[in-house]
Amino acid sequence: MQALLFDMDGVLYNGTAPIAGAAQALAWVRQQRIPHLFVTNTTSRARSVLVEKLKGFEIFTVEDQIFSPPRATALWLKSQEHGSIALFVPQATHPEFEGFPILPEKAETGARYVVVGDLGKGWNFDMLNRAFRLLHSNPDAELIALGLTRFWQAEDGLRLDTAPFVAALENATRRKALVFGKPAETFFAAAVAKLGLPAGEVLMVGDDVDVDVTGAQRAGLRGALVRTGKFRPSDLTGSFHPDFVLDSVAALPALWGAL
Ligand SMILES: [Mg+2]
Repeated sequence: MQALLFDMDGVLYNGTAPIAGAAQALAWVRQQRIPHLFVTNTTSRARSVLVEKLKGFEIFTVEDQIFSPPRATALWLKSQEHGSIALFVPQATHPEFEGFPILPEKAETGARYVVVGDLGKGWNFDMLNRAFRLLHSNPDAELIALGLTRFWQAEDGLRLDTAPFVAALENATRRKALVFGKPAETFFAAAVAKLGLPAGEVLMVGDDVDVDVTGAQRAGLRGALVRTGKFRPSDLTGSFHPDFVLDSVAALPALWGAL
């Protein structure tokens, strides 16, 4: 193993509470100069905000090491043929797309890429229909999804996330979205490409046995499950087979030494 990917929530902290030993484990990773990225499905907060959040837990990193769906999409777009981009993403993620040709807000034709994220209450019929018209008017237009989370728990109850809106557009256009976000293979592949190493030499550490661990394994990485965050003992009795199981991320240095 040459490099590490870390899920954040449930591995390094639970909401606002740090996980014991996480700061020390990450300090060890830095000290050993092990290449690593923090891989998150968050699309509503800028990377600078996530860097500050980690700093609050005494985990020190830089924006370039935060790998989120908007970031992965921007890196991928750089490698693609030039074309106008229509953004349906929260304002906080617009800075990720600075420097790209962004289509004016009312335009209904001319997009080569249609990027859809969690707009929440920002969605309305006209907006969703504009995304549809942009895709329909250009058979080559690529639909890109910033993750495929179906819903999330808000203060007032469950709320639709990105996937249902992407599904509506897929249904209307008979096109399949390219997904950047865990557990999509394209997303893990983009993270591995950023590290510049073969997938088989990268270990993903996560608390979600399906999205983090199995997702990474499907993309050719190895996966370590931590018994913190959303971990439940039943995660180990199903069809999932993590390569490693750790009591918490604090046990990572010992595992690394034994590999
Ligand atoms: Mg997690």
